[in-house]
Amino acid sequence: MCGIVGYIGYEQAAPFLLKGLEKLEYRGYDSAGICLNDGQKLVVRKAKGKLQELKELTGYGKNVSGTVGIGHTRWATHGEPSDVNAHPHLSDSCRFAVVHNGIIENYLQLKEYLTSKGMVFRSKTDTEVIAQLIEYYYHGDLIDTVIKVLSKLEGSYALGVISQENPNEIIAVRKESPLIIGLGENENYIASDVPAILAKTRRIYRLENNEIAILRRDGVKIINTDRDEVHKQEEIINWDINAAEKGGYEHFMFKEIMEQPKAIRDTVTPRLKNGRVVLDEISLTPEQLRSFRKINILACGSAYHVGVVAKYVFEKLLRIPVEADLASEFRYRDPIVDEKTLTIVISQSGETADTKEALKEAKRRGSHVISIVNVVGSAIACESDDVIYTWAGPEIAVATTKAYSTQLAVVYLLAIHFAELLGTITEEDYQNYIGELEALPSKIEQILQNEKQVQFLASKLFHSKDVFFIGRNIDYALSLEGSLKLKEISYIHSEAYAAGELKHGTISLIEKGTLVIALATHEPLIAKTISNIQEVQTRGAYVLCLACEDHREVESVAQSTIFIPKACDMMLPSLAVVPLQLFAYYVASLKGCDIDKPRNLAKSVTVE
Ligand code: GLU
Repeated sequence: MCGIVGYIGYEQAAPFLLKGLEKLEYRGYDSAGICLNDGQKLVVRKAKGKLQELKELTGYGKNVSGTVGIGHTRWATHGEPSDVNAHPHLSDSCRFAVVHNGIIENYLQLKEYLTSKGMVFRSKTDTEVIAQLIEYYYHGDLIDTVIKVLSKLEGSYALGVISQENPNEIIAVRKESPLIIGLGENENYIASDVPAILAKTRRIYRLENNEIAILRRDGVKIINTDRDEVHKQEEIINWDINAAEKGGYEHFMFKEIMEQPKAIRDTVTPRLKNGRVVLDEISLTPEQLRSFRKINILACGSAYHVGVVAKYVFEKLLRIPVEADLASEFRYRDPIVDEKTLTIVISQSGETADTKEALKEAKRRGSHVISIVNVVGSAIACESDDVIYTWAGPEIAVATTKAYSTQLAVVYLLAIHFAELLGTITEEDYQNYIGELEALPSKIEQILQNEKQVQFLASKLFHSKDVFFIGRNIDYALSLEGSLKLKEISYIHSEAYAAGELKHGTISLIEKGTLVIALATHEPLIAKTISNIQEVQTRGAYVLCLACEDHREVESVAQSTIFIPKACDMMLPSLAVVPLQLFAYYVASLKGCDIDKPRNLAKSVTVE
């Protein structure tokens, strides 16, 4: 998520920090800040909103002096976007400053502990505990202190730390969040990503987990948490700046597809403690939960497709009727919703106008609203009774990938958690589902390693004029997303059909060579889906079938096949969607489409 920069040298740091942050803007952010050591004290300037605000606040860097400093663009995860929640964060006595990317999972316990020791917190962020812990443990050696603090932190972080006492040092460290060190002449830099420093140097070190970098003007030393020196290989960057912003990938969409294992891990791991789902963000009591007669899911676009998956999942696990509704339709049809209806609202941006208005309608009718949102402090998050954030990080490509995947992950967490509260799940099934959920990221990694096969299939099929996605049960829910992904970025006409429904009319459109993408992951109905494949094949369709690896029998009925690892039925969409995203991506790329910004589409749809 978001951006860190740091500078230590002989020139004024602020202009460089602001330029570096500008180069990291593509990562998405909601506020920005810098902190410099002016030779006597730490000076912090921060502002909510665009970087321009910070530039104006600091006279484009001229009003803040100092030759060592750190800067940050924040993508809020804990505490709404605001001036005070923006980074850098200072310790209680303002002697230490920290910038942080990532999430500190145990920050509440740490905050409670430090508060009990008399430390006063200014912000709502998880990050502030890091600055406070440094102050709390500091006895004259900052490196030892940082090592001690790391041993207290759970979660993911990239950190830049400076202190009032030592204007000759920046300390940087990372775990599960990216951080690089730039090597210059008499000056050195830290950054979340290469573009921030390319104007200065192409020589970098990539920090590995738990490596600590000590930056001085005349050099950089890397150590491990035992303070042993680590000898790192220098890397020379030869990308151009555009490629650099996309982490070396050609498009944000591809980068975001690749980020899915991490995004799911970030969303799920903090909510699993000792093998149980812990959703502190939900205020519902088990009694309230038991009082619901219906669950209504409101969303638009891909988020609605998550809702359709959720219908199958919730009904199976909770035995409560579920309706997945298009937000734009729900509002205007005098919906039957009351206090006995639980409403779940899904939106990446949290600003989708139709969804927001549908939410208000549900609330007006007395329904309790839980939202699943990616942007902290967004309108939908603020209007809801409870919010569960997907920690996908900023999504830049218009066509969603990692937000969809993390929304699904939250659906599984909710389903397992509610099933336990309602007593509709056995302990054995509960344990199984937790295991399956934890295994998803590595299974997705496995699928991503096979992306060349999908690229090959796309190269054979990208001339298709019409495509039909078919599937039964949860595969039908997935076919909606597969079809939308393809049409929105490749402009190929595509439709999703429940496999059993095709023969009731639409099968008349199948002719020689029509591409049918058959999703056959749902084990209980695989024989039925195979029959549907045969129906379209005898009418001339070209069938690409996606199935689990233990169902090789589909090879004999389809012209092409993609296999994915096995998983429990309800979680298969999380795996199966990945080849569909890749297929859409490669088809669009072969057709020369503007993948990250498809025509006529906007990332956040704030009009009705
Ligand atoms: N969790 C931190 C916050 O909400 C850092 C977010 C980020 O990576 O920008 O402030």
